Amino acid sequence: MTKPVVAIVGRPNVGKSTIFNRIVGERVSIVEDIPGVTRDRIYSSADWLTHEFNIIDTGGIELSDEPFLEQIKQQAEIAMEEADVIIFLTNGREGVTAADEYVAKILYKTKKPVVLAVNKIDNPDMREMLYDFYTLGLGEPFPISGSHGLGLGDLLDEVAKNFPDIEEQEYGEEVIKFSLIGRPNVGKSSLINAFLGHERVIVSDIAGTTRDAIDTEYSFDGQDYVMIDTAGMRKKGKVYETTEKYSVLRALKAIERSDVVLVVLNAEEGIQEQDKKIAGYAHEGGKAVIIVMNKWDAIEKNDKTMNEMTKSIREHFQFLDYAPIVFVSAKTKQRVHALFPVINQVSENHAMRVQSSILNEVIEDSVARNPAPTDKGKRLRIYYATQVAIKPPTFVVFVNEPELMHFSYERFLENRIRESFDFEGTPIKIITRART
Ligand code: GDP
Ligand code: GDP
Repeated sequence: MTKPVVAIVGRPNVGKSTIFNRIVGERVSIVEDIPGVTRDRIYSSADWLTHEFNIIDTGGIELSDEPFLEQIKQQAEIAMEEADVIIFLTNGREGVTAADEYVAKILYKTKKPVVLAVNKIDNPDMREMLYDFYTLGLGEPFPISGSHGLGLGDLLDEVAKNFPDIEEQEYGEEVIKFSLIGRPNVGKSSLINAFLGHERVIVSDIAGTTRDAIDTEYSFDGQDYVMIDTAGMRKKGKVYETTEKYSVLRALKAIERSDVVLVVLNAEEGIQEQDKKIAGYAHEGGKAVIIVMNKWDAIEKNDKTMNEMTKSIREHFQFLDYAPIVFVSAKTKQRVHALFPVINQVSENHAMRVQSSILNEVIEDSVARNPAPTDKGKRLRIYYATQVAIKPPTFVVFVNEPELMHFSYERFLENRIRESFDFEGTPIKIITRART
């Protein structure tokens, strides 16, 4: 299901990140600490009552060299491009400023709904500050207080009222949805063109109808696929398209809709910090992952090069130890089509269900080989394990006391599960619960 997207815009210091964090609340990612991957969040899932949506804090998209007004202009443009509903945030303590008027003028151009919020209305006495904001011509201002968590319910009611009916392009269960993510210039578009055997024609968007609707359907060897568009693939020449945060935003959107994510690296430039961050998002998203080393034609090789590169990839991407690595060249098309059997396999593994009886044999056998940890004289007892979900495969392990389950033991169990079943290419999740 594609969720509606909400973006928060407004000049600096009005409280965008405060409100973003309030709305997002505490969200747990499947892996907490991947070195080099921790980031300040600008895009997250969120919910309000029965509504699920994604939210962008455009203030987090920094456009380093741009002057102040140009920055907020571009942030507003990103909101108009990416969101279904825009929250325009202002500061009630300062009243309407010239910068607010400037943002409002940009937002007049959009057909998307804009909800005006006036922040820092920390107590009811301050409500008279609101009247000033009618002059912005964007309808009724909603008073809120990010610090005190006031007014957010009414604001989100209004936002949800404006959610569009999203007509999701429905694909059959058997269709594999995949995306290519990676830094600019690693060769994502070239790879897609190589898959298709011709240049992909990119239809320009019609204003107001853009829902990242650039999925490309593709069949190979009897299997149907949909390639999901990502950053860098529809170059329209906007300044912000080359910024890191923007490409992250687009990558996160593509990851969300994919079953399988191809993390594309560039052999010519080697592995960079940004590659690790991007790969981290695919992993956190719980998607099947393949590491694709592109531009393999462009480097000097001998019989050791591939092994050395594999070793280096494994060192840099330890959290993706389950991901197969494929060396390709979009330019010469070498091994490009060899990717598809790998995509099929990891997609199957990502959706695999294992039998409880066999799973429990594996767990019992593991405990017999490597006794569960003890703490202060107490030993972890594992009673039973069961698979509760697919995509990614998720297991619940019932124990006497969950606090006794250490990370290293969980890792041991994961490895034993991986040795026993073919989960290549997919993360797996283990949840420890007290048996009640
Ligand atoms: P951003 O630049 O728009 O993302 O703004 P921030 O979220 O970083 O907030 C800017 C400052 O305003 C911070 O010092 C916040 O603590 C403060 N702030 C945010 N919301 C409120 C509020 O509702 N009331 C008051 N008094 N201060 C707030
Ligand atoms: P994107 O930004 O990730 O979509 O990257 P592009 O597909 O636009 O490719 C960036 C540049 O790298 C272009 O000049 C391509 O011609 C070049 N390129 C892409 N794939 C290969 C490859 O396999 N080998 C070589 N030598 N160049 C490539």
